[in-house]
Amino acid sequence: MTGEMLSQFVGKHFVAGEFVSGEGELVAVENPATTDPIGEIRIATPAEIDRAVSAARAAFPAWADAPAKKRADALHRLGNAIAADADAMATVMTLEQGKPVNEARGEILKLAEACHFYAEEAVRVHGEIVPNDTTDSESHVVREPIGVVGAITPWNYPAELIGWKLCGALAAGCTIIIKPAELTPFTALAIAAKVKEAGIPDGVVNVLTGSGSTVGQALVEHPDVDKIAFTGSSSVGLHIQRTCPRIKRLSLELGGNCPMIVTAKADLAAAIKGAARRSFRNNGQICIAINRIYVARPVYDEFVTGLASAADALTVANGIDKPDADVGAMASAEPLDKTIDHLKDALEKGARLVAGGARPEGEQFARGHFFRPTVVAECDHTMKVMTEETFGPLVGVMPFDSLDEAVRLSNDTPYGLASYLYTTDASEIRYVSRKLDYGNVAVNNVDAGVMNAPYGGRKQSGVGYEHGREGMLEYFNFKHIRIRLDQPEGL
Ligand code: NAP
Ligand code: MG
Repeated sequence: MTGEMLSQFVGKHFVAGEFVSGEGELVAVENPATTDPIGEIRIATPAEIDRAVSAARAAFPAWADAPAKKRADALHRLGNAIAADADAMATVMTLEQGKPVNEARGEILKLAEACHFYAEEAVRVHGEIVPNDTTDSESHVVREPIGVVGAITPWNYPAELIGWKLCGALAAGCTIIIKPAELTPFTALAIAAKVKEAGIPDGVVNVLTGSGSTVGQALVEHPDVDKIAFTGSSSVGLHIQRTCPRIKRLSLELGGNCPMIVTAKADLAAAIKGAARRSFRNNGQICIAINRIYVARPVYDEFVTGLASAADALTVANGIDKPDADVGAMASAEPLDKTIDHLKDALEKGARLVAGGARPEGEQFARGHFFRPTVVAECDHTMKVMTEETFGPLVGVMPFDSLDEAVRLSNDTPYGLASYLYTTDASEIRYVSRKLDYGNVAVNNVDAGVMNAPYGGRKQSGVGYEHGREGMLEYFNFKHIRIRLDQPEGL
């Protein structure tokens, strides 16, 4: 059941092109659908961390100076190796994260796409020649890779959230040390195996397992790590910003509390379908999950009834046994407890439960971290479900009377990651999408992030971008070379 692929990574780190047995403390990794152990990791020791950073540093000059075509070819090989083994990698992910195998396979294939996307970007890195005030000088603006990157990633998308950093960094000519979440270390090690198979030079990519407060923090503090690329909670992001003891480039992709507005002019069936998908996919454990929905009063009742039926129709199952289930187990007890807390808080303050609200029934759900997709209506902003990130399968719905009220409620949050709008009216689209204070606004669709366009938050949702060209630019320093050019002699 644990899968052949997973077992080879037990207790290992990936440093300087080799899988090495860790010497630090052992930590068990569980299958969240059963709470059975699937293997152990070792918390990287200070000496192991230093070795990985040294390996990345040693590999940097040759990788940075290699022709862009060589880096592009390596990323294409990596994408091919990953896609070719998507089934086995998906099983590893489901065993440690809980999402159904088909969805996990989809994520692995998107990781492969990211490799190809950044392979194509790698050969299109160019600079600028900028005219000066006098004709005898000109400014060349060139891009140079930052150096050694420490990537710290969460457990909800164990492959993609590594991939965007890995591919952007490698395309730019940086080297990287990846610290995956303790809950999902084996997907990261499976990616490392593909790095090796793709023939990426030793030391360019390294993976260290262990906890955030030790291994992650050590990368943040390490004098020889030039940049931290972090995805995770706003509280840990802020802690990293506060405790980083030296000037270091930081990109922080943090939490969200994403609103959806459904106006009276929306295609209601499409809005309900979109709401069910983006509230409950991956059990709502998505930074851009819909947390709260504001619906125009004339269509409110119909929307609530429709969303409740859509939620009730979703299948919940052990993602290994039922690869095509809509949702699997939640990744751990922590997000499940938070979901139950937010639900209880909403019901105590007068919300109406219209779907879910309990663990699914059956012996097969008794031990794992399962919960039914849950909808609460008649919510308001005294409730946690509307004002905090739940990161679970719970969504709150609330009526509104004017577009400005919907916008005000949507922006009434410290976060600014993604927002959603359903309306078929072009003036409403223009007005609302400009007023929403978010890095991403998805209109009449719920895919706020696509590979080709920048993805990032504002306010407490972070700094920096992933995806698109912008996702690679995060791994460059600009250099200005100002050249004075005298007229050639003898003219
Ligand atoms: P988290 O607790 O912040 O952890 C994220 C990563 O940081 C993990 O690898 C964690 O390690 C590590 N970490 C913890 N403390 C650290 C420290 N002191 N120094 C350095 N690293 C440290 O977040 P999570 O609970 O895993 O993930 C859920 C959060 O991620 C949600 O808030 C979600 O919105 C956010 N998220 C954001 C995006 C985005 O693109 N904006 C995407 C996905 C998720 P360990 O867990 O191993 O201890
Ligand atoms: Mg955490």
